[in-house]
Amino acid sequence: MDAGRCRYQFRIALLGDAAVGKTSLLRCYAGIAEPGAPEPTAGVEFYSRALQLPAGPRVKLQLCDTAGHERFRCITRSFYRNVVGVLLVFDVTNRESFEHIQDWHEEVMSTQGPNKVIFLLVGHKSDLQSTRCVSTQEAEELATSLGMAFMETSAKTNWNVDLAFDTLTDAIQQAL
Ligand code: GDP
Ligand code: MG
Repeated sequence: MDAGRCRYQFRIALLGDAAVGKTSLLRCYAGIAEPGAPEPTAGVEFYSRALQLPAGPRVKLQLCDTAGHERFRCITRSFYRNVVGVLLVFDVTNRESFEHIQDWHEEVMSTQGPNKVIFLLVGHKSDLQSTRCVSTQEAEELATSLGMAFMETSAKTNWNVDLAFDTLTDAIQQAL
């Protein structure tokens, strides 16, 4: 779809611990084949994708990846500038990544001031059921307590990847 003719641009960020699968999720959604292991380069990495919302308008999504900085918890304020939606991502096989979700949520809230940001909690690597250690129920409880929805995704099996971004984008549009 021609991104130049879009009516809106939504800037969406993916946040969560290192290695939960943020870059893989983004590349899966943006349709970029993985050229080997995703590289933790400096700065912010942008991807874009245009989509047609069910309600009518065309939207250009600007998707922001932390490019490895989450490892050092030194994400610059410019990363959060004009962000309207955030996917808070944890790995369902990594308990610590789930326990850090509240910290990521607070970090976004502290950088945004009064701006409204729409969040979606994402339990990623749902293909790894035999080693999972975070249940759907407790993830749903956390999402409810933080006032957001919860979804499970897998970039490996392409499970719910489009749906997660569509759900977030719909919620952003409804809040406009
Ligand atoms: P990031 O640090 O959050 O950007 O995570 P990456 O996208 O670099 O992924 C970290 C590791 O998890 C890589 O080895 C990926 O191949 C793997 N990975 C990413 N998504 C999935 C998934 O859905 N399922 C499984 N099994 N592995 C995944
Ligand atoms: Mg990454």
